[in-house]
Amino acid sequence: MTNDKVFRYKVAAGMAAIIAVLLALAYAGYNMAREQRVNLALVRHTYEVKSQIEDLLDASRNAATGQRGYVVLGSQTSLALFEHSNEAIPQLLAKLRLLVRDNPSQVVRADELAGLFDERFSEALSVISRRRAGDEDGAYNQLLTGRTLALSEAISQQTKIMEDQEDDLLSQRLLQTAETARRTEYISIGGAAFAILGILVAVFAVFRDLRRRLSVEQALRDSSALLQNTLGMQRAVVNSANYAIIATDPDGFITDFNPAAERMLGYKAAEVIGKVNPGIFHVHGEVVAAAEKFSQELGRTVQPSFEFFATKTLQGKMQTGEWTFIRKDGSTFPAELSVSLVRNSEGEVLGFLGIASDITERKNVERLKNEFISTVSHELRTPLTSIRGSLGLVLGGIAGEVTAQGKSLLDIAHKNAERLGRLINDILDIEKIESGKMEFQMKRQPLAPLLRQSIESTADYGRQHDVSFHLADEAPGVEVEVDSDRFMQVMANLLSNAAKFSPEGGTVEVTAVLVGKAVRISVADKGKGIPAEFRDRIFQKFAQADSSDTRQKGGTGLGLSITKAMMEHMGGSVGFDSVVDRGTTFFVDLPTLSAVPAVPAEARAQAGVGSRPRVLVCEDDADIALLLRMMLDQGGFDCDIVASAGGAQRKLATDGPYLALTLDIALPDKTGLELFHELRAASETQDLPIIFVSAEADKGRRALNGAAVGVLDWLQKPIDPQRLLHAVRMARHQSRQGAASVLHVEDDPDLIHVVTSIIEPIAKIDSAPTLAAARAKLAEGARYDLVLLDLTLPDGDGAELLSAIPAEVPVVIFSAREVPEELARKVSSALTKSKTSNELLLHSITAIIDKMAAPRVS
Ligand code: ADP
Repeated sequence: MTNDKVFRYKVAAGMAAIIAVLLALAYAGYNMAREQRVNLALVRHTYEVKSQIEDLLDASRNAATGQRGYVVLGSQTSLALFEHSNEAIPQLLAKLRLLVRDNPSQVVRADELAGLFDERFSEALSVISRRRAGDEDGAYNQLLTGRTLALSEAISQQTKIMEDQEDDLLSQRLLQTAETARRTEYISIGGAAFAILGILVAVFAVFRDLRRRLSVEQALRDSSALLQNTLGMQRAVVNSANYAIIATDPDGFITDFNPAAERMLGYKAAEVIGKVNPGIFHVHGEVVAAAEKFSQELGRTVQPSFEFFATKTLQGKMQTGEWTFIRKDGSTFPAELSVSLVRNSEGEVLGFLGIASDITERKNVERLKNEFISTVSHELRTPLTSIRGSLGLVLGGIAGEVTAQGKSLLDIAHKNAERLGRLINDILDIEKIESGKMEFQMKRQPLAPLLRQSIESTADYGRQHDVSFHLADEAPGVEVEVDSDRFMQVMANLLSNAAKFSPEGGTVEVTAVLVGKAVRISVADKGKGIPAEFRDRIFQKFAQADSSDTRQKGGTGLGLSITKAMMEHMGGSVGFDSVVDRGTTFFVDLPTLSAVPAVPAEARAQAGVGSRPRVLVCEDDADIALLLRMMLDQGGFDCDIVASAGGAQRKLATDGPYLALTLDIALPDKTGLELFHELRAASETQDLPIIFVSAEADKGRRALNGAAVGVLDWLQKPIDPQRLLHAVRMARHQSRQGAASVLHVEDDPDLIHVVTSIIEPIAKIDSAPTLAAARAKLAEGARYDLVLLDLTLPDGDGAELLSAIPAEVPVVIFSAREVPEELARKVSSALTKSKTSNELLLHSITAIIDKMAAPRVS
């Protein structure tokens, strides 16, 4: 029941009670009044009786006076008075009897009185008769002695009794009247008090109700004012928003179109509300493409109309997206649009709400930012490549022996140059991913080689942390569709993180296993794990569990966010499991394509046999020999292994010639240095390039006084594979007739100097700092085996030179900008400055020159 109803019931009940009590009081008052009327009538009646008795007594006294006057004086007047009074007495008696007829005792007394009067009248008549007869004395005597006096006395007494009786009655009746009057007074006072109380209660209740009503009314007024304010505020927000706010009903008809929408799209609200749906603001082709994509996802056709937006929103998949909007005048602008559902409190769909903003300005800023980033990338990458390249060369011994202290300082500089390079590369990658400009060359390919290759290329980094990688399962035969460079980048990041956070001497296990229709590639380390509070943020940009990692471990906090974005672009996902102090397993899941039969190992080996240059490895430690074989294999060389100096001599005599010989100093039959001298003494082997590989390389170097003919390098164990391959490649080129010639088109003189130093061992460098200079050299008819080309040149885009370079001359682009896919396809190789180490540059150039010169080399 509502408050109001309860109140009304209470008031009704209260009023009924008051009325009942007042009625009872009125009834009692009425009775009292009636009783009082009776009482007063009785009192009046008693007075009447008393007055009648008085009148009778007067008449009696007058009769007696008249009788006496006549008897004594013979006065006729007295006689007349006697006769007149006696005549009145019977009437007065009759009236008295009538008056007391309701009182039997008084009736008796009245009757007795009448008898007494009769008797006295008779006596008086006899006395008067005597007087009339002249017997004055007799009459007088009779008057004095006769019964007249006694009868008068009796009459007096009788009347007195009757009067006393009436007085008693009168006092009783007056008492009764007073009592009734008092009761009436009580009832009146009680009634009045009760009425006043009732009125007070009623007034109080009404007052309270009034107050309640007033406060309810006030609350209502307040809440309606609040509602008005809120609505007003909402309307003001909607009206003054810089966002176009467009609401529709469930069928898509526009129901609201705010002033910003009017400004943005050029339509007046009245022109669109209830008339059209927001499809008219869209470029049809964009909606068609989006609807097609969505139809494929859903597995059913979604019309490229409002249905597309509605279905996507209903499915909860309408994220904020960029669209081209068309104004009323036909002009277009880029807009960011988010559509959401409007439901009522019962969850019923009332319509859709679109919020759009004009992002022309943002796009301009983005363009400027991109231009800035690309400028910075160029400006930073080129000098960084020089720094890193020079440091690498100096550390590699190009400038002669470096003191231990100098080496450790150069190491620091080199490490930091690499770190800076990584940071720049990561920032540029992130920028590319975020602007949607990262290109992915998706190619169907077997997974296992990608895994092996990624482990090989990170192995060196692992060795720096004294961590090795073990490929426990490579899911043979499984094919995936990925961009191999990006996939390798993902793997490199996961493997290097695992190595970075592994304990020294640890092993990182890599496995690939099929899980349903996907293949899960896991990289498991036994490191310190990932703290629980950091796990939610791990894929965010610049997120590191321990910020000191940046300095200590050289990370940027960008790797995993790049990894995740790249995997998602390639249709995969990234996740991890981690137990603190026990280890972490990062995994990527990729959809698999139909499995292909695995290529047997021998078949793979056979494919390369005979087509690759051979190196002889003279090493008595079988593990090291195997390691050397793997390193050489990776660099594109075959090898034969011998465990003694004698074995080496026999092999050289029977299976030669070899491209080069790697030689251990400590051999079972003689020292490597002895063998070296013997080989130099024999004519067939006097030019054989030799690479010493020894735990005591430095000692050996000193023993030969550092100037041994044909010694390509002294490699200290553990062996740096890049340095080994570098040495073997130099052997390769020394074996050629004449050095190759390379045109380096680059405007940065420092970089020209560094690159020249790097590739000098295999090629002669000619440099051109501008497009014009390069064109001139090419026009002069100079013959080059390779052109190394920068894209950003002072007088134009390096790509313009391509048409001037003879078709048979291979081109390697070496630029600070990443090379667009279209251009990359036209050249032999495309390298990015700061992403390319000295070794990679040398390797790429060597590989191309080798291929070109293949017919010349046997
Ligand atoms: P960084 O360049 O710093 O390695 P990442 O994005 O690759 O950047 O990694 C971010 C952070 O995630 C690291 O700094 C580290 O705190 C944590 N992390 C990544 N991989 C591992 C791992 N295998 N073990 C422990 N922590 C890891």
